[in-house]
Amino acid sequence: MIPFSKVADVFAEIEERSGRIEMTGILAELFKKAGGNEIGKLVYFVQGIVAPPYEGIELGMGEKFAMEAIASSSGHTRAEVEKNYRQSGDLGLTAEHYGGKKRQQALSASEMNADYIYAALIKIAKTSGTGSSELKKKYLTELLNNATPHEARFIVRFVLGRLRLGVGDPTILDALSVAKKGDKSWREPLERAYAICSDMGYVAQTFYENEKAIAHFTVQPFKPLMPALAERLANPAEIIDKLGKCAVEEKYDGFRLQCHKKGERVELYSRKLERMTHMFPDLVEAIRELKPKELIFEAEALAYNTKESRYYPFQQTMHRRRKHGIEAASKELPLNLFCFDMLYIDGKDMTERPYGERRKALEKLFPSGILKLSEMSLVDDPKTLKKIFDSALKRGLEGIMAKDLGAPYAAGKRKFAWIKLKKSYGKSVDTIDGVVAGYYLGKGTRAEFKFGGLLLAVYNPDRGKFETIAKIGSGFSEDEMVGLEKTLEKIKRETAPERLDYRVEPDFWVELKYVIEVAFDDITLSPTHTCGLHEGKGYALRFPRLMRLRDDKGVNEVTTTREVIEMYEEMHKS
Ligand code: ATP
Repeated sequence: MIPFSKVADVFAEIEERSGRIEMTGILAELFKKAGGNEIGKLVYFVQGIVAPPYEGIELGMGEKFAMEAIASSSGHTRAEVEKNYRQSGDLGLTAEHYGGKKRQQALSASEMNADYIYAALIKIAKTSGTGSSELKKKYLTELLNNATPHEARFIVRFVLGRLRLGVGDPTILDALSVAKKGDKSWREPLERAYAICSDMGYVAQTFYENEKAIAHFTVQPFKPLMPALAERLANPAEIIDKLGKCAVEEKYDGFRLQCHKKGERVELYSRKLERMTHMFPDLVEAIRELKPKELIFEAEALAYNTKESRYYPFQQTMHRRRKHGIEAASKELPLNLFCFDMLYIDGKDMTERPYGERRKALEKLFPSGILKLSEMSLVDDPKTLKKIFDSALKRGLEGIMAKDLGAPYAAGKRKFAWIKLKKSYGKSVDTIDGVVAGYYLGKGTRAEFKFGGLLLAVYNPDRGKFETIAKIGSGFSEDEMVGLEKTLEKIKRETAPERLDYRVEPDFWVELKYVIEVAFDDITLSPTHTCGLHEGKGYALRFPRLMRLRDDKGVNEVTTTREVIEMYEEMHKS
């Protein structure tokens, strides 16, 4: 069993390095020491999670309770701890500071191994219901009583959901391959296995127990695949140039669901791979009725008026993504699924099959009641494509998706296997998805809502940093402002998020959690923002306005700096 102090030492070492090669080496050394029953947990530790997102077991204790736990384990007051935190800007460092100054050592202080810490973290994550915050605090205090200062730093960051070692998934996959085989030769099969089950801990454990199973890894019901993503091109001619004869489908503006079935059990996963099954009893019922015993397919869910064959607007569809009043909502706003890809059927992994074949499998099964088939035409010239596109827009759809008939399913990748053409491309109005990094207080009449705008950031994967791109002051209704203030208030933080680069400070910083879609008129260069910063200027949105909350997207999936630069270049080419 690996002592947790060893893991904490490795984490501290990684924090001081920034090179991927170095990090891979350090991690591989740690992984070498792990047995088959430990490696999965170690990998979760490095990812800063206790289970894949679809298990719904999340940490994320509030700062207040963590401060109280640090105070009671060290015998200091909460006010002392809070003061130290204001100076350090990191509760992990504060815990480490007090870990070395405990007024009383716990009588039972003993070395904790990684397994033990994992079990304790799971216990904290799973504690829910009334009084759960107090209980979580108690469990954390117990852990801190036994912890060395180094261990305390990482335990506290972990329970706050702020471990963020800066180690990306590719580095972990490389380190696994190096640990077991001495080189990176297994990176590719490991990466594929991860993309089609989204559970790195499970992949690592399988690799340690039986590497052949990684070489022949297949899709499995109830392990959702990372969704394939679409590239964009500016017009029909570019699409036909790229794909030749292709499938052109309507692009539905609802929310994406990955549907899994095995026997009587059905599960639905969002684009972020969260389990959404309980929200859609009507869809679950329809899927359960399907003939195949085992099935995984993808679809877009839309509120649909069957009598009038008409889609409801997106906002109404989103009304169905709710936690309460599910039965009533499902009667009031029936959903239809527009199925667009077949990934697995009765033991047969379809992801390596060409799209044309996957589509045939879909057509055999659908339509079936509320489970519809996405509209598809085979097209090989730009004129016909343009016609389909225009007619889709006329009917209130967002645009079209063109698909490469010969391409396999690109799990977790943005490839030209799918190309989207939306109405705003090539014109001056476009949108991006960004993460809210902070908010401003209102001035004048807005002051009564205590809300004045949002600070928005995009992601730069090359640097592993979020970079600010806009302050958004419009697009909000009064109701939305009140709602936003309430929502953001809950995730306020004293200091800027660790992964954010910024030059302006909002009135309040928040956890990087909420993704929003923002429309704008132009992109300019400005000294205030850090997106793609060069020669003292970053890219900034002109006239940004809030379109909607994108709660189907994770923060790492927002628009990237590279995409912003491409849009800038497209908009400013003469
Ligand atoms: P992305 O998913 O590419 O990051 P996004 O979430 O902003 O971007 P869009 O750019 O609008 O979404 O396009 C991709 C989404 O379109 C898919 O995730 C899926 O939910 C939706 N979609 C609608 N109709 C189809 C279809 N026929 N085939 C594939 N996807 C479709």
